Amino acid sequence: MLYDTHMHTKWSGDSEAIPTEMIASAKAKGLSGLTFTDHLDWDFPTLPHKFDLDVPNYLTEMQTLAAEYTDDHFSVHIGLELGLQTHLTDKHHALLTENDFDFVIGSVHQLDRADPYYDEFWENRDFRETYQYYFECTLENIEAFPDFDALGHIDYISRYGQRVAKSRRSRQTNAAISSDAPQPSGLAPASDGILHYHDHASVVDAIFEFLIRHDKALEVNTAPYRYGFSEPNPSRQMLKRYHELGGRMVTIGADAHKPADVAIGFAKLPELLRDCGFTSYYIFSKRTPQEIPL
Ligand SMILES: [Zn+2]
Ligand SMILES: [Zn+2]
Repeated sequence: MLYDTHMHTKWSGDSEAIPTEMIASAKAKGLSGLTFTDHLDWDFPTLPHKFDLDVPNYLTEMQTLAAEYTDDHFSVHIGLELGLQTHLTDKHHALLTENDFDFVIGSVHQLDRADPYYDEFWENRDFRETYQYYFECTLENIEAFPDFDALGHIDYISRYGQRVAKSRRSRQTNAAISSDAPQPSGLAPASDGILHYHDHASVVDAIFEFLIRHDKALEVNTAPYRYGFSEPNPSRQMLKRYHELGGRMVTIGADAHKPADVAIGFAKLPELLRDCGFTSYYIFSKRTPQEIPL
């Protein structure tokens, strides 16, 4: 029984997916249900208002769909992917007090109001230092606003770090090939941008301990499979560490922005999660966790 609990539709600024087509894709892939988690990222400086979700109309449409498509074999839940920023906590509290969602993913997409999605973000930045800072900001955000159900893609920033590292390496290789001058020897190899748990152990452990202490779930996000990476966010190593510290609540989501990407990589998940020590994962209904055996 697999449920995809992270996906976007036309209600998100970066997706044009029709909600019923996401449902059809989930059914075709044999899922037992899905949760819509459209973006709400207020104060998104690079693209102002692009991710200001129209909450009343979103809820109205999704509630109609949930009623229509939920039966004994399939369930539709309504959630939200909330972009955490420490100055927005009061607004986020009001939003969740005034509206009923099944599930809230808390995600950090911004680092000091800058967006790691863009190549310019990485100019003059060291990968390891930036990853460390991202984790520190994540800890600060979840401490400031613990009213979410699952922490989304905890090592999200490394998707973009690795992409930038790859393009830097290929530029260096091309420059070396095209230059007639002898190449200097002894230069450190260019970073591969891969994030290693042990470089950030203490802050990552602090995030895990916070989640465990507050009964929050850690999301396993399979979007990296879509980009050709071999591990989900977070990596197997980090999932093992979370389990070792006592973490038992994980949610699973493919972060699809179009129907074809629903449940991408899910075939790998049961074995991967069992290998990390988990025997179940969780879905949320009316903000209440429900355990699903693996
Ligand atoms: Zn996200
Ligand atoms: Zn997402």
